Amino acid sequence: MIPPDVFERVIKRALAIPRNADGCRETWDVFMINDAGQPEIRVNGTLYRVHRLVLQHKLGRPLVPGEVPHQICGNTECVEPDHLFARTVDEKY
Ligand SMILES: [Zn+2]
Repeated sequence: MIPPDVFERVIKRALAIPRNADGCRETWDVFMINDAGQPEIRVNGTLYRVHRLVLQHKLGRPLVPGEVPHQICGNTECVEPDHLFARTVDEKY
């Protein structure tokens, strides 16, 4: 699990990104972007995907096994909470 203070800092940073014309909060200049085009941070050697953390913050709980984040805007860099929803793996595939 990500330390709670780091979690809060990441959420603050993500939500401070201004929305673009599509309403997306794009993160390329704030976070590292992985090969899948998703924003990531490294904490004590562990990588965390930022959109996943923002979704957990929105839900107020961790994702349960089988749940995956889904970006309705299709923008892999986006961390706008209104664009993030949890889906089950079955719904996605
Ligand atoms: Zn978006």
